[in-house]
Amino acid sequence: MTEGPEEHLTSEELAERKMRFLFSLRSRGVTDTRVLTAMEKIDRGLFVRNVFADRAYEDMPLPIACGQTISQPSVVGLMTQALAVNPRDTVLEVGTGSGYQAAILSQLARRVYTVDRYRRLVREASELFRQLDLANVTAFTADGSHGLPDQAPFDRIIVTAAAEDPPGPLLEQLKPGGIMVVPVGQSDAVQALIKVTRTSRGFDYEELRPVRFVPLVEGMGSE
Ligand code: SAH
Repeated sequence: MTEGPEEHLTSEELAERKMRFLFSLRSRGVTDTRVLTAMEKIDRGLFVRNVFADRAYEDMPLPIACGQTISQPSVVGLMTQALAVNPRDTVLEVGTGSGYQAAILSQLARRVYTVDRYRRLVREASELFRQLDLANVTAFTADGSHGLPDQAPFDRIIVTAAAEDPPGPLLEQLKPGGIMVVPVGQSDAVQALIKVTRTSRGFDYEELRPVRFVPLVEGMGSE
């Protein structure tokens, strides 16, 4: 079992910490009740395994294995909100990382597929999905820039690594009426979060906000 910092806290302290976590999400613009409920239910502390575990409830990205990061909670909330997931949707996430974003999506969608190029991250995230009984999430080790042709098409696609352009295969695997949220930019320092909507005529692009993600890298990871 993963040990969280919970062990040292009283139930009042736990409730207080949860309240502060939700308050900071709301104050940063996460207002969708379904998203907030999912983020209240899924304990971020379980997804941060290292010395940073006691900072899991602060609004900051944190290092995870394989030199990657778990995103800032408010960014997870804002991206999930922008994705406007419906209960019957099939969702693809590219960039499993810790599994936290996929676990949030599992509360909102019918089916979630998530892929990462690191076998180790997929193994550890899958173990957490099993422990938490999240039976509607499946994680694969794959280069997500090609999407998941066998499971396509998707109602929603979320990319949690930065691409230079929205990858063509992902656009192709989006259903008509579908939405993709993806950080796009040339720079490592800052990218623009883009919401792509597939219409009957093509694709609409809307720029949402500046974000900072690790890059989408082609090919498989070394671990
Ligand atoms: N969503 C994650 C955080 C993602 S960090 C969470 O909730 O914790 C970005 C992840 O994208 C990293 O784990 C990295 O390995 C992965 N990644 C980068 N390029 C990729 C690619 N081409 N295919 C699949 N995963 C990729």
